[in-house]
Amino acid sequence: MTMIKNHWTDAKAEACLAAAGSDEADRDLALRVYTSRLIGQDPDLVMHGGGNTSVKTRRPDLFGEMGDVLHIKGSGWDLDTLEAPGLPGVWLAPLHRLRDLDSLSDEDMVNAQRRNLLDSSAPNPSVETLLHAYLPHKFVDHTHATPFLVLANQPDADSVCEEIFGDRLAIVDYIMPGFQLAKAAAEVYEANPHVEGLLLRNHGHFAFGDTAKESYDRIINHTNLVARHFGMDTATPLAIRRTPSHPDRLAILRGVLGDVQSTVDYPMPILDLRNGPDVMSFLQRPDIADLATRGVASPDHVIRTKSEVLWLSQQVWNGGRADIQKAVADYIERYRAYFDRHAPLAAAAKTMVTPTPNLAWVENIGLIGIGGDAATAAIAADLGEQNIRVRRVGEDHGGFMPIGEADNFAMEYWSLEQAKLGKKTAPAFAGRVVMVTGAAGEIGAAVSRGFAAGGASLVMIDVDQEGLDMLADELGPGHLGLCLDVMEADAASAAMRAATGRFGGLDYLVSNAGFAVMGEMHEVSNEALRRSFEMNFFAHRNFGAAAAKLMLQQDRGGQILFNVSKIAVNPGQNFGPYGLPKATTMYLLRQMALELGPSGIRVNGVNADRVRSGIVDEDFIRSRASSRGVTAKQYMSGNLIRREVEARHVAEAFITLARSERTSAHVMPVDGGNIEAALR
Ligand code: ZN
Repeated sequence: MTMIKNHWTDAKAEACLAAAGSDEADRDLALRVYTSRLIGQDPDLVMHGGGNTSVKTRRPDLFGEMGDVLHIKGSGWDLDTLEAPGLPGVWLAPLHRLRDLDSLSDEDMVNAQRRNLLDSSAPNPSVETLLHAYLPHKFVDHTHATPFLVLANQPDADSVCEEIFGDRLAIVDYIMPGFQLAKAAAEVYEANPHVEGLLLRNHGHFAFGDTAKESYDRIINHTNLVARHFGMDTATPLAIRRTPSHPDRLAILRGVLGDVQSTVDYPMPILDLRNGPDVMSFLQRPDIADLATRGVASPDHVIRTKSEVLWLSQQVWNGGRADIQKAVADYIERYRAYFDRHAPLAAAAKTMVTPTPNLAWVENIGLIGIGGDAATAAIAADLGEQNIRVRRVGEDHGGFMPIGEADNFAMEYWSLEQAKLGKKTAPAFAGRVVMVTGAAGEIGAAVSRGFAAGGASLVMIDVDQEGLDMLADELGPGHLGLCLDVMEADAASAAMRAATGRFGGLDYLVSNAGFAVMGEMHEVSNEALRRSFEMNFFAHRNFGAAAAKLMLQQDRGGQILFNVSKIAVNPGQNFGPYGLPKATTMYLLRQMALELGPSGIRVNGVNADRVRSGIVDEDFIRSRASSRGVTAKQYMSGNLIRREVEARHVAEAFITLARSERTSAHVMPVDGGNIEAALR
């Protein structure tokens, strides 16, 4: 069985050409996009911005004079979603002239590439642009394929490569990406002009050809030959996440990491646990502690995963907070020492990145990606899963010997790599886990949208699976939908388990789910009243209590927010069975604020009124309006400011409370002003 499938079809290639029209350069670019995407769709070839592709063509300048142009992947684009604007065009002749230089700083190289762009607003061409430029082939493809990373890190990679390929592949010794690597690779190629590609030791693979198909076929064939040599015949399983039976220690780890990160002004981390069978069996290896310190499979992984993995044995994990704290502190001490060993040797001053791990291996628990938001944690975990396979297969076939510490440091603190991480300030809720009950309803969806827009990772709970799916689609990856009835006895603990298993803990609970029960107090049955209490009080209390327990374990504060309703303070005709439990919930809010305050956990609520929702639906509005002799519009804007209150206004109140760091035991009305319901 071959590991990597060849997805080329003539029909799709023809369709790309047809869409491109008659311009030769546009047709070249269309095929370049086509095979780039084919490569990008296989994570065993490239992942998360890794790898790059190019095509050489000819275009006219403003004076109509034809010149050679290199279209190369731009930074910020991934191959799987590449489009033509993601392949900026650069005039080739000035890039060739640079080769005469003995040295060229990274900044000068980037500037020279930008200065020769055809479109001055295009993204930065890849840092591997010159390597593509100096190879003469029309199509050039570069990957960090899993099998090639096994080969590239073998101690005797040269002889293994020769055994597999004979003289079809030439070998380039490790040099950090940039000008010197481009020159060295060109020299190796020119000494072996018959080759189909290059093995870059400790880094990856290049293949090239006269046509898009030839180069793509070579990428696939070469990779499968290496895979076969190492007995790899299946795709690397990625992103298998199973909710662990006792995820509470994940919350402790998250809290410990949050403690450290908060002292250096970093947000809470998101943890992304992977625990499929391959991960679990890898963690049983007797050499696991050694493998954790061995380094990364390809140099550009280091900014995502750091060189060293935090290894936690079962004993440390079971030891609880003190033991986990010590393991993290030891890791940080080693990281600082590594920084101090190498930073003084660098040409320019370096600023240490957060010294906490980006990857952890926990015996019998799994591999954990750690990041400032769900996407960053997922990238670390994906690369972590690829890396463990590379380590396992490599170590079992001669050895896994990646670049050493000094080369790692050069890469981790390379200005061009640091730029990839971005310097923009994190959004307000980046790294925060927010659970919303009743998420598929009007208010719950608005609250979920608001927190997601602020960078939070959402755990959305509702009984309506279809509504959850729609919301999850709208918000994109990095959130979790859970179909649960909040009135079930074990719903709250199941929700906390799921949140901890998926993200490592919880920072905010928005306990929002509710329904109205109507009737006059002397008429309503105890049964109906009890049902209202189950939803409008006990569900709030169960979720609030379970969230509090989880937050106490995490020991990083947190906040519980209740959707109370103005009915709690201002009775309405026929609304007693709804108002009674809501009034109790408002008391609960104050009681919990009192009890949890010393642990830094804030408890607040929102009193909304007349918001279109599952409770206040069209029929309800019509009947209320007609009983008061007003129009539906007048009824809905029957408040001091004469404006209808919408779900988004309620969401804003929850978000404002979440950000109000010194506010607790507070209830914020969102009713457009209502003197009868005004709080003291
Ligand atoms: Zn590369």
